[in-house]
Amino acid sequence: MSKVKVAINGYGTIGKRVADAVSLQDDMEVIGISKTRPNFETQLAHQKGYPVYTLADKMDAMKKAGIPVAGSIEDMVTNADIVVDCTPGGVGEENKSLYEKAGVKAIWQGGEEHELAGVSFNASSNYEEAFGKDFVRVVSCNTTGLCRVLHPLDQQFGVNKVRVTLMRRAADPGDIKKGPINAIVPNPIKLPSHHGPDVKTIMPHINIVSTAVKLPTTLMHVHTLNIELGKECSAADVRSIFERQSRIRLIGQGINSTAEIIELGRDLGRPRNDMWENCVWDDSITMHEGELYFFQAIHQESIVIPENIDAIRAMTELEKDGARSVAKTNKAMGF
Ligand code: NAD
Repeated sequence: MSKVKVAINGYGTIGKRVADAVSLQDDMEVIGISKTRPNFETQLAHQKGYPVYTLADKMDAMKKAGIPVAGSIEDMVTNADIVVDCTPGGVGEENKSLYEKAGVKAIWQGGEEHELAGVSFNASSNYEEAFGKDFVRVVSCNTTGLCRVLHPLDQQFGVNKVRVTLMRRAADPGDIKKGPINAIVPNPIKLPSHHGPDVKTIMPHINIVSTAVKLPTTLMHVHTLNIELGKECSAADVRSIFERQSRIRLIGQGINSTAEIIELGRDLGRPRNDMWENCVWDDSITMHEGELYFFQAIHQESIVIPENIDAIRAMTELEKDGARSVAKTNKAMGF
């Protein structure tokens, strides 16, 4: 069977990781990436063998920098079965007419609104909803992290109520425009934050309210969760559910911070020290007066990457069974 042809529109933090993850799968291939200017990332993409496409008015600049251009972004989209749009939040929306005109399927990221695609996606929570769809949005890093823990708890015990505080990294490590900041910023000040409603785009029945602050760090986000479950259970019951989730990693053994989680990623030999799993502090899992509490850390740069691969598989009907797709993606990426 021929491989599904995937184009990556926007080759930044998320786009370059999606491209590398696609190229590790045996049922899909990268037919092109788009860059808006020649820089080290463009050069590296070319060296990796990804055909480079660009905006019509940037072709000369690319050629002058010694980067062969395969064509315009319109050409790339036309050659693909599916486009993974990894442009900055808000920009992806402008590309919808381009994808519609080319008759190509498209995945957007969490920076876009749910309504743009009509289906929001998390592999373990609603894989089947994306099956055969033309447009899907893979939810943000924080929403992905919340869905991964809430869905299995909801299946097992029912979830009556969730209250979560998100402590967010201010910027990504390579970002010199937004950070570092020397401040703690309630963001947004007007409560609650958008993260709760975003979880509801995947699990509409969950009663969830979220608040968020930005902190002077670039490494990861940390969530403090407080959950009222529908049935009585112990911390050990919760732990054993999390242990069975391939995209949740229970952490301990002297890991007391996000810095040490990133060090673990390095020691594991992960590409770009990526931590694709939710990192739940084992010792934090506590039942207090019938309510569940725990901390988890979310690696914003990488947690949505396996979800994009599963979304491609669902939308192009390569695999009907979500659990099988997740296992295949994990194996190919080296979880
Ligand atoms: P980024 O800024 O790192 O990368 C975006 C890339 O798109 C850049 O290379 C930029 O030059 C390019 N670009 C800009 N306009 C373009 C256009 N018109 N056509 C083609 N390329 C264009 O952004 P990112 O962090 O990778 O975010 C991408 C999406 O993923 C956003 O929706 C964001 O909300 C979401 N997301 C980001 C993170 C994160 O923490 N970085 C986590 C989860 C989801």
